[in-house]
Amino acid sequence: MQTVGYAARSPESPLAPMAFERRALRGNDVAIEITHCGVCHSDLHTARNDWGGTRYPVIPGHEIVGRVTAVAPGVTRYKAGDRVAVGCMVDSCMECDQCDKGEEQLCRHGMTGTYSGVDRVDGTPTHGGYSGAIVVREEFVVKVPDALDAAHAAPLLCAGITVYSPLRKWNVGEGTRVGVIGLGGLGHMAVKLAVAMGAHVTVVSRAKDKEADALALGAHVLLVSGDREAMAAARDSLDLIIDTVPVEHDLNPYLPLLDVDGTLVLVGQIGPLGKLSSLPLLRGRRRISASPIGGISQTQEMLDFCGEKGVVPEIEMIRMDEINHAYDRLEKADVRYRFVIDMATLENAV
Ligand SMILES: [Zn+2]
Ligand SMILES: [Zn+2]
Repeated sequence: MQTVGYAARSPESPLAPMAFERRALRGNDVAIEITHCGVCHSDLHTARNDWGGTRYPVIPGHEIVGRVTAVAPGVTRYKAGDRVAVGCMVDSCMECDQCDKGEEQLCRHGMTGTYSGVDRVDGTPTHGGYSGAIVVREEFVVKVPDALDAAHAAPLLCAGITVYSPLRKWNVGEGTRVGVIGLGGLGHMAVKLAVAMGAHVTVVSRAKDKEADALALGAHVLLVSGDREAMAAARDSLDLIIDTVPVEHDLNPYLPLLDVDGTLVLVGQIGPLGKLSSLPLLRGRRRISASPIGGISQTQEMLDFCGEKGVVPEIEMIRMDEINHAYDRLEKADVRYRFVIDMATLENAV
């Protein structure tokens, strides 16, 4: 199947249209016409090879929502016309203990990324959602609940599940004291989801000027990290911190905010942590962890939860041909809070 996407051909080149082939349907493949795709910080990092290992040309996009256009004979869960979504992975070994548990993101043999990955069957590169269509085996396709509109559902597929998974892993519920560091795409979803789970939510921010935004999103308190007195007063006051900061930063000021046995989970940054002292960890038996997206069944659970509770991201719609400008703005954190590409604009953008 011939389609078109927006590809980066090198770390320096802006995204530009590229015609390419989607594979013919295999055993239990689902063909999806993409209607919306969220813009994740990882898209930008991968396009620019910030983490190394990008396979060029790369078509980013792993917050994909669309409609089923065709299914292979082996498909049991979906039919043409269904509203579906695809997130950060499109395959895994499906045989190891982690895949058996539904933790495909932790597959012992490595999950297959939605873009810049390699197809497990034919060895071709995987291409993401900045494109007209995608073909994915049905185990990696999820259903979009009727209560969610397509544009708002898109960012849930990466930003949503990335923060939902640790909130569930650490049993956040009524009265849990949750801190959120960073108020971007991931952070604003962490606030909304934690509030919907019944948590008491503190946003930790460098600037007081984020307060109105934080409270509008449902947070209960804004704590200014540069305010030494306020930070000291907030010692031992949190059970869990979701740290969404996407660049290297100093964790030392945040760890004392955790109560005994509290955990700080990194979900934004990939790379070195900077200098850490064991002292705040030892004093409160505190932990640092990190968490990559979530499994497919948990992704479905998260979408259903958002549909039920009316939890949706704040989005800004863009046209496909605005993507390079959107990346510039994303780099400056100038977005509230997630760009979503209206893929109907692809046609006029090639
Ligand atoms: Zn992402
Ligand atoms: Zn596996």
